[in-house]
Amino acid sequence: MCDIYAWKAAWRAGGETASDWQAEACPTLRGTIACMKRLATVLVVVGAALFAAAPEEFSTAAGTLRLTPIQHASLMIQAGDKVLYVDPAQGSYDGLPQADTILITDIHGDHMVPALVDKLRKPSTVILAPKAVAEKVKGCTVISNGETKTVGAFKVEAIPMYNMKPAADGQIYHEKGRGNGYILTYSGKRFYFSGDTEGTPEMKALRNIDVAFVCMNLPYTMTPEAAAEAVRAFHPAIVYPYHYRGSDTTAFAKALQGTGIEVRLRDWYAK
Ligand SMILES: [Zn+2]
Repeated sequence: MCDIYAWKAAWRAGGETASDWQAEACPTLRGTIACMKRLATVLVVVGAALFAAAPEEFSTAAGTLRLTPIQHASLMIQAGDKVLYVDPAQGSYDGLPQADTILITDIHGDHMVPALVDKLRKPSTVILAPKAVAEKVKGCTVISNGETKTVGAFKVEAIPMYNMKPAADGQIYHEKGRGNGYILTYSGKRFYFSGDTEGTPEMKALRNIDVAFVCMNLPYTMTPEAAAEAVRAFHPAIVYPYHYRGSDTTAFAKALQGTGIEVRLRDWYAK
């Protein structure tokens, strides 16, 4: 037997189009073995894709908030009937829903891709971003360090993100005041997205964070150990390393052992 419809459904579930498969058919017994082999391959690929994109779920008084890591610093949040993206820039967006809200942290290409914002937006989409981003992405509502804005059931607070010293190559990749980290509050649950930053005094002074997403990678941000030191200071209940390409997240987890902070390691770079 060969069920092309099962292939197509499975392929869609993996976020790809079925068009390549629609031309395929397995009309004879001769093709059955090859057909089954291809089906098995598809299911393995889909399984991997589902694992990579598996949403994290958080219960709130207003229902479940689902957060899907997309890649690097890019993620999607679904809560109530709303869809919110943070830094839509990297990974695949095929099959993902249009945005009600988009938060952008900074101007670099791993955080801001104007063409992708255009693809995800609809006329009612609210895009919150710092001024430097608003100069490159049309239709943003500017939010600056320290400001708070409310979008429907979400409260968004802009937190400074910056390098405190030049990198080893002498560059300051993130000047203070240009970009925003964000605290997103939904039904009383507070999610922190660091953006690209070192462990600044402002980060260390955060309080009552339920779930934190914290960057690490040199030369742009900080080491896993420095990230752990900052996280230890503001003590979220749960922390996810994100934006960690090339970094050893196990060193981050090890540095937080015994603190009572739950470290959740996920693969943000699965193919
Ligand atoms: Zn970055």
